[in-house]
Amino acid sequence: MKRRPKVVVLATGGTIAGKGKPGDVAGYRPGAISIHSLTQSISGLGEIADIEEIQVSNINSDDITSSLWLRLAGLINTLSLRDDIDGFVITHGTDTMEETAFFLHLVVKTEKPVVVTGAMRPSTATSADGPMNLYQSIVVASSREARGKGVVCVFSDSIYCARDFQKLSTTSVTAFGGRDFGMMGYVLDRRVLLYNTSLKPHTTASEFSVDGISSLPKVGILLFHVDADPSLISFAAKGNDGLVIVGAGNGNYSKAYNEAIGELSIPVVRSSRIGNGMIVPDSAFDKWGNIILGDNLAPTKARILLILALMKTRDREKIQEYFNRY
Ligand code: ASP
Repeated sequence: MKRRPKVVVLATGGTIAGKGKPGDVAGYRPGAISIHSLTQSISGLGEIADIEEIQVSNINSDDITSSLWLRLAGLINTLSLRDDIDGFVITHGTDTMEETAFFLHLVVKTEKPVVVTGAMRPSTATSADGPMNLYQSIVVASSREARGKGVVCVFSDSIYCARDFQKLSTTSVTAFGGRDFGMMGYVLDRRVLLYNTSLKPHTTASEFSVDGISSLPKVGILLFHVDADPSLISFAAKGNDGLVIVGAGNGNYSKAYNEAIGELSIPVVRSSRIGNGMIVPDSAFDKWGNIILGDNLAPTKARILLILALMKTRDREKIQEYFNRY
């Protein structure tokens, strides 16, 4: 007889575990209920999979740290070796969910599905979206379709790739999108329907590993805007191993900003505040020996790739190769 799949739910907190005035959507406390009470509130979950719950933390996702990322990666890498486990779901606040997902996408070494999910409404709201998102995530995590696809995000009936998904609305229940690349597919009741997968390496094909690592290189992000103060560049560079500049348009910034960046010896990634499109080479900016083009990664994701690249090399050309490949 075929056994029921087993899914490990790693709970970190967020609005999905939020509690507030019954019915209300705003003014709640994130990370207030346990993963056990959340799974207990979802009917039919036990028919999909056997659930093993691990309460890793119960915090607002703005308080997630890279030590927690390392802990999650370690847990998934260890637990995925167990034959009785078929997949993973991480419940997470939506604010920084895309960062945690991309980090894990590049450092977990498993073909088993890893799904991140959250909610826009607390568990006590009328029509809370958390139970459905968690139900659908368990469906995806126990599916054969999601195997080998890297870390995915499941939100409001949709499946997104960790590399590209991004929160696009501060309030909507359909808050997420996949930037230029859209969705991977749908999840509906017990069906997983995939149409697109990323060609970029991840998980078992990724060359990044955080095994035995207890801290990561430090990379900061600086946003360019009209009248942006170039003195902030040297300030931001202090204590950081690398910087990501969120430029205007095609990762552009003022002459004053450009000169200040040219003074730095640490790697600087050019990214954009636009949200879609790629960073095209431009000799006016790329003339310095420390500039890397951030491709089409969101600045927060360019930061993660730079962190992982810096664990391997400080060489600009090699770092650029990582950005071209991932
Ligand atoms: N502030 C919350 C968090 O990221 C928002 C959410 O979960 O939707 O934890």
